Amino acid sequence: MTLDEQYELLEKTIRAYNPAADFAGIRAAYEYAEKAHDGQKRKSGEPYIIHPLAVAQIVAQELKLDSESIQAALLHDVIEDTPATHGEVSKLFSPTVADLVEGVSKLTRIQYATKEDEQMENLRKMLIAMSKDIRVILIKISDRLHNMRTMEYQSPPKQKQKSTETMEIYAPIAHRLGMQRMKWELEDLSLKYIEPEAYHEIITKTEARRPEYEKFMNRMQLQMSERLDALGVQHLIYGRMKHPYSIYRKMLAQNRNLDEIFDLFAFRVIVENVGDCYNVLGVVHDLYKPILGRFKDYIGTPKPNGYQSVHTTVMGPDGIPFEIQIRTREMHEIAEYGVAAHWKYKQNGQGSGTEGRYEWVRRLLENQEGADAEEYIHSLKVDMFGDSVFVFTPNGDVQNLPAGATPIDFAYAIHSAVGNRMVGAKVNNRIVTLDHQLQNGDVVEIMTSKNAKGPSRDWMKIARSNEARSKIRQWFKKEKKEENIANGRSSFEAELKHVGISMKDVTDPEILPTLLKKVGYLALDEMYAAIGYGGFTAQKAVSRMQGELVRIAKVHQAERLAAEAAEHHKEEAPPPPGRKGKSEQGIVVEGLDNCLVKFSKCCTPVPGDEIIGFITRGYGVSVHRADCPNASADKRSAPDQAGRWIKVSWGGTTNDSYPTVLEVVCKDRHNLLMDISTALSQTNSFVLGINLRSTEDEFAIFRIEVRMKDTRQLTMLTNKLYQISGVLKVTRPAG
Ligand code: MN
Repeated sequence: MTLDEQYELLEKTIRAYNPAADFAGIRAAYEYAEKAHDGQKRKSGEPYIIHPLAVAQIVAQELKLDSESIQAALLHDVIEDTPATHGEVSKLFSPTVADLVEGVSKLTRIQYATKEDEQMENLRKMLIAMSKDIRVILIKISDRLHNMRTMEYQSPPKQKQKSTETMEIYAPIAHRLGMQRMKWELEDLSLKYIEPEAYHEIITKTEARRPEYEKFMNRMQLQMSERLDALGVQHLIYGRMKHPYSIYRKMLAQNRNLDEIFDLFAFRVIVENVGDCYNVLGVVHDLYKPILGRFKDYIGTPKPNGYQSVHTTVMGPDGIPFEIQIRTREMHEIAEYGVAAHWKYKQNGQGSGTEGRYEWVRRLLENQEGADAEEYIHSLKVDMFGDSVFVFTPNGDVQNLPAGATPIDFAYAIHSAVGNRMVGAKVNNRIVTLDHQLQNGDVVEIMTSKNAKGPSRDWMKIARSNEARSKIRQWFKKEKKEENIANGRSSFEAELKHVGISMKDVTDPEILPTLLKKVGYLALDEMYAAIGYGGFTAQKAVSRMQGELVRIAKVHQAERLAAEAAEHHKEEAPPPPGRKGKSEQGIVVEGLDNCLVKFSKCCTPVPGDEIIGFITRGYGVSVHRADCPNASADKRSAPDQAGRWIKVSWGGTTNDSYPTVLEVVCKDRHNLLMDISTALSQTNSFVLGINLRSTEDEFAIFRIEVRMKDTRQLTMLTNKLYQISGVLKVTRPAG
């Protein structure tokens, strides 16, 4: 493909998802980058501009980002590798584009060496935190993806180094941000250079057997599809081979070679709503035997990165196992594109009313309705890292501290002995004051002395981390008991005076034990000591004691007052008159034709249930089960409802089904939900939704919403549910 063709393709890709993109600005960025990189060559010998153009293509195709991101992708290496400056890019394009480019350059400059897991995790977090705008990291990952795709031109040592870095830093970040597709490709490409033999074995062998594999996948797909069509569940099924890195991990974990690994296949079923996810699960478990311990419900309990799906592995015919992931369209979009899907939605979807679909984003945005994209990105990062700052020790370890942290926090994070002996601090080799605020990427060095006097009380106010504050408090508690008691006593007395209570009221031997119990100390001195070292406050102590003193006074007063009893009489209502009428929605209302009928949500009656109607104001007759608490004898005879209860009955047979709710109480165990969804499928129960709640004493309560033809089908389902081991009680909630 020529450069021009490549550029045409980029425009076409962007136009497909964002016809209103700033194409003039994008072309200008392209031409600027081409000129800036003029004469530079890639290792492949091609002109350098090939690379930024390809990165922009990834940003558009994989992540569907906005015009500024595309411009920044085209320009991402100009500040680093050409005479271009932030100021120039800012003037020619926009300050945002310049910031994005500079952000990407900063990340490029950081060097990594392989380290232990926790350090790696901190490095990854630091990288995301350092990209003030999340788009920086998205562009950086795209940059890395293209470099990995063209890694063949690098020297073998460089290939290994970059691949290790990709595997340890970039693939996990892509995963953290929920971008599965890019994560997979990064992992597969890294494997190719880290373990070349294993990679080539996997590729050659799976390629050789591809026709056979595809036949198998098509057959499974057809079987599932037919059953789902019969049930009327709208769906899309995709079958795929697992990707090479995931096969490789299985080979390692199970210590087997490729011929001995069976679950090479995965299917994905995409449906319209959550209820259907469980319908599909039921069908799958009815068709194939589920493998125990492989069922996971990430819909009920989403992964921390927002991922939702139901996973199960089943044994197919010929003993070939395969995995099935079931999810809705929205869940799918988020699983594939992760944070980019959210971001895109925030950009284009404002006010389109689709808010409710993106639960994860909605949670993040809960308290900031109408926030703009920038605030959104900020809130996203705050949520991921709780407003952290990441700094280095002199030997390159990363410390994760709360934003606004000072050298004091850093010292105590290393060790309390370091904090207690601190006499000063250096940041990036320059001496700073102890209240100096640390920035991402700072190198911090603590100066200590054996003769240090120990922390000062002011440090507690300067420190931002609870860890530092509590360690300082510990020191004071241990080192300065007498002083603490004296200090605590004087602030307590001052506070008492402030609210107008005398010391005598507190020390009254009748009352003192109660008061001490209220504040949780055995003796006043202990409380003073705690106040002295900062473990408790005089304000809290006094306000709790004051509350108790007021309460004691009130009890005395209450005892003096005589109780008053008021009697209310209920009036009897005449029973409603009875007449006969015509069927409506399968319901006959006595004496009324063509009247609006609705089924109450509280008890969800189905044909076969004994029922009664209630004439609502303006919404027709609402039908309850006769045993619904909302239709109890008391309610029926209440004065304000007299005359509004009316006899109703089920009309002739219909083909309709009715939504109803079952509550299933079980002893909690693995695979319960799996067995329940199978029972639902076997009784042709159409699932509308399943809700699961676990109690602390290891019980699980399922609330299942299904469509039922009549009480016969309901009884069948109930019986089937009772056959499941662990099921204790199946009820129809009402009221
Ligand atoms: Mn680059």
